[in-house]
Amino acid sequence: MRTSVDPPSLTGEDVRCLPDPVLGQRCAEVDPLAADVVALGAAMLALMSASPACVGVAAPQVGVGWRVFVIDVTGHRKARTQHGALVLANPRVVERTGEDVAREGCLSVPDLTGDVPRARGIVVAAVEVGTGRRRVVEADAFEARALQHEIDHLDGLLFLDRVRTPAGLHQRKRYA
Ligand SMILES: [Zn+2]
Repeated sequence: MRTSVDPPSLTGEDVRCLPDPVLGQRCAEVDPLAADVVALGAAMLALMSASPACVGVAAPQVGVGWRVFVIDVTGHRKARTQHGALVLANPRVVERTGEDVAREGCLSVPDLTGDVPRARGIVVAAVEVGTGRRRVVEADAFEARALQHEIDHLDGLLFLDRVRTPAGLHQRKRYA
């Protein structure tokens, strides 16, 4: 597993897909002020912006086993709470409320989407990469789902692991 970011920019070619074993590993906590962690966060943000319909990227998806992810659901039609672009490390879910099942996809699982049960609302405590500021993010609906999806990546879990029945898996539509 990589422990540093080289090169400091990322493209779609850096995205690890199933069955890459890095996606199944539990990631390590990091120093949110370390230069290579800050560089990774910036590169992941850029990758997210450059990837159509992408609302989050977690470090293991680019081959790095660190507890770092980025998320931005701004303007998404299913989003209610919107905290803008976040680059967070060492997240912890401190509260979960309700449950919802909705369709999810993932850059690392290019061919499938799935109907995934998640808490409807969550409170996540984390530290902001680059500032070290402690953040407590209270999210619901689509943003809560995206946060849970990214935090799962840091524990080596994919949305596929949470789909309850074979009927809950779907071939992804191709637009190109
Ligand atoms: Zn994913």
